[in-house]
Amino acid sequence: MQDIRKISLQELTAFLQTQNEPAFRAKQIYDWIWQKNVHSFEEMTNVSKKLRQILKQHFYFNTLNIHQDFTSEDGTIKFIFQLYDGKKVEGVLIPTQKRMTACISSQVGCSLDCSFCATGKMKLQRNLESAEIVDQVVHIQNRALQTYQRPLTNIVFMGMGEPLLNYSNVVQAYRHITAPQEMGLSTKRLTISTAGIAKGIKRLADDEVKAKLALSLHAPTDEKRNKIMSINEQNNLEVLYEALQYYYSKMKQYITFEYVMLKDFNDTLEDAKALVKWSRKIPCKVNLIEYNDTGSFKGSLPEQISAFEQYLLQHDIPTSIRRSRGKDINAACGQLLIQDKTTPLKK
Ligand code: SF4
Repeated sequence: MQDIRKISLQELTAFLQTQNEPAFRAKQIYDWIWQKNVHSFEEMTNVSKKLRQILKQHFYFNTLNIHQDFTSEDGTIKFIFQLYDGKKVEGVLIPTQKRMTACISSQVGCSLDCSFCATGKMKLQRNLESAEIVDQVVHIQNRALQTYQRPLTNIVFMGMGEPLLNYSNVVQAYRHITAPQEMGLSTKRLTISTAGIAKGIKRLADDEVKAKLALSLHAPTDEKRNKIMSINEQNNLEVLYEALQYYYSKMKQYITFEYVMLKDFNDTLEDAKALVKWSRKIPCKVNLIEYNDTGSFKGSLPEQISAFEQYLLQHDIPTSIRRSRGKDINAACGQLLIQDKTTPLKK
């Protein structure tokens, strides 16, 4: 027995040949799986009962289901998804006037342990499979339509986990989400956000993955970045710069630098100057992210964030402020954390 969503169209076609079924059946079944997103063979109504029975004897669906959801007073909806093995991850629907954004997870927990992030405290439990990543999008899309009567406009890999440490499954999910004959979302509507895995950034360029790229920069010098992101020790700013240059030379897409505003840590004029210097090196835009106090860090004051933004704008760095959403339900940036029996926490 095998998870049917782990095999390719070619493999499915070859299997059906062994059952004396014509090749077009494989395409029909594949459409049910990846275009209509069904989770059972019974739903494949244009497939004969006999063939559905054969499929059931050889394959199964490992699905991701909504375990719980919470709606914030600002309309943000946080989902706790349960995986087939009982583990849980989170996803978030963020509605704004212009956009409907799904923030999705790529791993259960995370191995990187950035000091301002709650997810890192969970440690890494496992990678998500590509179908589990796609299921998050399908559930969040359905809820967006149900609650707000609007489809998703953007998908960001900014939930739990480091996407480029689950490279193959993330890229496979990206292909299912964007293939015109499958979910068909525009590649420009997807953003893959990395804490800074230089090799993975280059690989995205080599594989011509057209999703947008965001780098969680969060500090403009190695000295400061080392203090909050241990990944910077092997992937320092020089190594990242080289990878980003390579990426830009091939993809010709600007890069977004995510910069979470931490009070008295990375929000001074000195930091703004260093960030301008770094940002001039590569075509980019900067998102300044409001941070919710957790443990050792406090979010910068609103006037400090505005002053920081103004400095960057005055120096011709396209910059915007990302307001924190879903704070009251712990759905905001850096707050995604599962606390239950399956994920014992060290605090
Ligand atoms: S910020 Fe991202 S990479 Fe860092 S610990 Fe959190 S989930 Fe992992």
